[in-house]
Amino acid sequence: MTVAVALVALIVLLWVLIPLRRPEPEGSDARALTDEADAKKRAALTAIVDLEDDRSVGKLGDDDFRVLKRQYEAEAVAAMAELDALEASGTHSDDLEAEIARARHAMTCPKCGATRAPNESCPRCGAV
Ligand SMILES: [Zn+2]
Repeated sequence: MTVAVALVALIVLLWVLIPLRRPEPEGSDARALTDEADAKKRAALTAIVDLEDDRSVGKLGDDDFRVLKRQYEAEAVAAMAELDALEASGTHSDDLEAEIARARHAMTCPKCGATRAPNESCPRCGAV
């Protein structure tokens, strides 16, 4: 019984300590972390644009919209903070609204204004 408790305590301790003992990222590791944070940021911004669309067509109520948008904004902000920490240059220090506007622009068909996935042809008019 005591051995089992001690074993569980040891496992918990290792589980807590091991991530702290990982070496500092450098080179390709830093690149991978940056890509990961960038992907997280993109996913959150895309989700916000989708939420805005869902609300505009009445698929999402104002209350749900506010809750979900706050959640995705927090994710985007966390990812952007992560990027800032990884890249001291400050290339990712743009403010969130500008990032959302950029994501929305990338997802809006230049011909008909329909929402489309970035870098994909428009589902409404087929424009690339
Ligand atoms: Zn179109």
